[in-house]
Amino acid sequence: MKSADVAALRRGLDGQVLIPGEAGYDATRTVWNAMVDRRPAVIARCASASDVAAAVRFARANALEIGVRCGGHSVAGMSVPDGGIMLDLTPMAAVRVDPERRLARAQGGALLGAVDRATQPFGLATTAGNVSHTGVGGLTLGGGMGWVARQHGLTCDNVLSFEVVTADGELMCATESDNPDLFWGLRGGGGNFGVVTDFEFRLHHIGTAALVAELYYPAQDATAAMRAWRDLIPHAPRRATLTAWVGTAGVWPFLPPELHGRSVVSVGLVWVGDPSEGHDQITVLRSATPAAAERIRELSYLELQTMDDDREGHHQRRYWKGHYLRALDDAAIDAFIGRGAPAGTDEPDLLPAASLQAYGGAIADVADDATAFAQRDALVEFVASAAWTDPAEDEIRMANARSYGAAIEPFASGAYVNALADEGAQGVRRAYGAAKLARLGALKHRYDPENVFHLNHNIPPVTTE
Ligand SMILES: Cc1cc2nc3c(=O)[nH]c(=O)nc-3n(C[C@H](O)[C@H](O)[C@H](O)COP(=O)(O)OP(=O)(O)OC[C@H]3O[C@@H](n4cnc5c(N)ncnc54)[C@H](O)[C@@H]3O)c2cc1C
Repeated sequence: MKSADVAALRRGLDGQVLIPGEAGYDATRTVWNAMVDRRPAVIARCASASDVAAAVRFARANALEIGVRCGGHSVAGMSVPDGGIMLDLTPMAAVRVDPERRLARAQGGALLGAVDRATQPFGLATTAGNVSHTGVGGLTLGGGMGWVARQHGLTCDNVLSFEVVTADGELMCATESDNPDLFWGLRGGGGNFGVVTDFEFRLHHIGTAALVAELYYPAQDATAAMRAWRDLIPHAPRRATLTAWVGTAGVWPFLPPELHGRSVVSVGLVWVGDPSEGHDQITVLRSATPAAAERIRELSYLELQTMDDDREGHHQRRYWKGHYLRALDDAAIDAFIGRGAPAGTDEPDLLPAASLQAYGGAIADVADDATAFAQRDALVEFVASAAWTDPAEDEIRMANARSYGAAIEPFASGAYVNALADEGAQGVRRAYGAAKLARLGALKHRYDPENVFHLNHNIPPVTTE
């Protein structure tokens, strides 16, 4: 790459161009997972769809690998190429709402919090994930699970149109009627088909209130509590999303001191809607097994959507293992509670925490072949997440998360593409299954035959001729 070419790129963009050593370069290449420390040769801070198109053409002319950054929350840090070009979409972060028509438009670099903040003054929302600094781009393109998904479907189910820059730098629109094959692939197929510069979402009237319940159990009561919780999943109303968690308790004021520093399980739910109706569900949950402690919070929907922002904040080292489970039998519950630890281990500090989040409801109403997302029959999503700060712990933390993932895998039915880390092609196969992957491969061949967009959970192009 010649400096004259970079100078030409600078002149051609509305946004900024950064190369190593320039002010802002290091801050822009830094993403959520502190394990990711890669150095793009050039960063194009795109301010418009035409900037994105120019940057894609520049990348191809200079044979540079392309990383596409929205929220920067891909666990594997897919958006940051070593030596390539990073298309930083964060300057394109605007959200516009049409409350009458219940529509929102979000630019390709918007964060989830911007969508919620723009829609909630009208009591409206579309499905968004649980941490507000996550990007609309990556989350929507891989599926998008959130607290109203059981009522209104995944985030990708609520997209009405995409504006996309394709691999040859053309701007296209994809809707149910305009390029419907691309519209299908963008709803679950990840960043494989182009750079989305604008999303149009359907909004729903959800009100502004929410309720969160967590009931905590020590190890000896965890099995009974988890089994009772599991039996409630098929009967839960759509406004409730059942949740479970296992991890090492901190010095939390709502827990008895004897549980601090111990492995504990919590079961609970998140309710979106009138809290007084949600309390009935907590009564059902509570009646099964007496808890050691409870944490019940009535809060606004915006508070719900930001309540984990600090705990899931930037600058920590991270590693995940995720699975979907179609059923949660007693052996799977034992594996969940065991945290992948060797039998007899009583040293929970270095073990990952894990969550279960119930699917079903409107997610399962959508026909399997209607979108590229492939796991609509999941009962629950499992994610084991390790977070630490000391690089000396990298190996043990990742090994423990892998052991935990391996302990759950015999019970799993697939994987969520947005929770994949370093599973490579095998993870992509687990996310889509053979038939859908074949259809996606043919679509990839149509829109990106040279696999220009390959820094993602990659779908290789497949020729059908
Ligand atoms: C703290 C945290 C909480 C999470 N919570 C949830 C949750 O509640 N529900 C859920 O479903 N998932 C959740 N996830 C997973 C999340 O969906 C993925 O990590 C997702 O990739 C994040 O998208 P991003 O835009 O922030 O990431 P980025 O790293 O910026 O992008 C990831 C990839 O997506 C593609 N991409 C991003 N934007 C575009 C675009 N505009 N056009 C084309 N391609 C694009 C690129 O291939 C890129 O490499 C969470 C992740 C984290 C770290």
